[in-house]
Amino acid sequence: MNPVTVLHASQLVTVAGPDRPRVGAEMQDLAIIRDGGMVIRDGVITAVGLSDEIERSAGKAETIDASGCVVLPGFVDAHTHPVFAGNRLDDFERRARGETYEQIAAAGGGIWSTVEKTRAADDIDLFEQAKKHAQWFLKCGTTTIEAKSGYGLTLDTELKILRTIQRMNRETSLECVPTFLGAHAIPKENRQTREQYVDLVVNEMLPRVASEKLAEFCDVFCEYGYFNLEKSRKVLRAARELGLKLRIHADQLTNSGGAKLAADLNASTADHLEKMDEAGIAALKSANVQPVLLPGSVYALGSTCYPRARAMIETGLAVVLATDFNPGSSPTPSMPMVLSLACTQMKMSPAEAITASTINAAYSLSRGDKIGSLAPGKLANFSVFDCEDYREIAYWFGVSQTRAVYVRGERVV
Ligand SMILES: [Zn+2]
Repeated sequence: MNPVTVLHASQLVTVAGPDRPRVGAEMQDLAIIRDGGMVIRDGVITAVGLSDEIERSAGKAETIDASGCVVLPGFVDAHTHPVFAGNRLDDFERRARGETYEQIAAAGGGIWSTVEKTRAADDIDLFEQAKKHAQWFLKCGTTTIEAKSGYGLTLDTELKILRTIQRMNRETSLECVPTFLGAHAIPKENRQTREQYVDLVVNEMLPRVASEKLAEFCDVFCEYGYFNLEKSRKVLRAARELGLKLRIHADQLTNSGGAKLAADLNASTADHLEKMDEAGIAALKSANVQPVLLPGSVYALGSTCYPRARAMIETGLAVVLATDFNPGSSPTPSMPMVLSLACTQMKMSPAEAITASTINAAYSLSRGDKIGSLAPGKLANFSVFDCEDYREIAYWFGVSQTRAVYVRGERVV
C-alpha cells in the first residue's frame, strides 16, 4: 500500500522529546516544525520533517494538505466518566438559582440520580449514549480517553458499564482505557453499612473485573463522607494485588490526604487536587505521581478554587490536564476548552497546556511509547486545526477549530 503524507502544516506540533513525561521547562518545548510534514504507513508514523524532504523521500503517496493549519497529536484525555444515562439539567438550573449541593441532592438530584438512570438503562441505550459521547470527544480532537465506571455501584451494573467501555473500543474510533471506579460513592442501599460496600468492592467486584480483564486501572473517590483514607487504601491495595494500576480522586473538596495516599501506594496519578497543600505536592514529587488537573469541573461548579498548576510545574511534577467529562460537575468533552481554562485560570502557558494534554497524559496511561507525540514509530493519531499558530487553540474559546481528526492514519472526523 502507498504511504500517506501530511504536507505543509503551518506548524507541525510534534511534542517530540525524551522517552518520559515532561517536567519543568521541558513542558514549554513543543518541538514545532514550520511547513512540517510526515509520512504514515499502515497507521504508524514513519518519518517527520520539513515538507520538502518528506515529499521527496515518500515517493508516490496519498497526500493530506495541511496548508494554513496546525497539526497536533490527538489529545489524550486522562480522566473521564463517559458511560452514564440521562443528564443533570435540573441540577444545572438549580445551581444557577444558587441552591446548594445538599438542596440539590434533597430534590432528587446529584450523583444518585445518574446512578438510578444508569442502572435502569439497558445495554443498547447505554451504548448509544456512550457512542454519542465518543463522537463528541473525537470532534474536539481527542483520540484516546481514560474511561471510568462508577455509576452502577452494584456488581452487575459496574460490569455493564465496563463492558460498554469495551464496546466503545470495538465499535468507535476512540481508544478508551478502562478504569474501575466502583468506589465512586456509597450506594443508597448501603448507606448504613459503608463497611459492607467496601467489602463488596474488594471481595466481589474487583476479582471479577480483574479476571475478565475489564479494567487496566482502579480509582477511588477519596474524600471525607465518601471513602476515607483507610477505606480508599483498602480498595486500592486489593486492586494492586490483582494487577491493576492506580489513580485516585484526591483532595478535591477538602485536603483529606489523598495526594499522600497516592504517593504511598505509588499510584500512576492523583486527580483533582484543588485543595492539595505543600506537603501533598512534595509527596507526589517524591513518588513521581502525575497530577491530573480538571479545571472544567471547577468552572462548571461555579467555583474559583483552581488547582495550583504553577506550583506543581515549578516543583517538577509532570502535570496532566483532562476534562473530567461527566454529567454532574463537568459536562464538557472539549480539551480546547480545558486548554483555555488552564491558560486563563491556572496561568499555564499554551505550550505547557498542550504538553499536559498530549504526551504527559499518554504517559499517565502507560502509553507514552505509542501516542501523545508525532514521532516515528508512534500511531498516526492527530488533528488538523483551522489556525496557523497553536496558541489559537487555547485562545479562541467557544468555537470549534477542528478541521479533521485522524486515528491510525484514517480520517474519523
Ligand atoms: Zn472524576
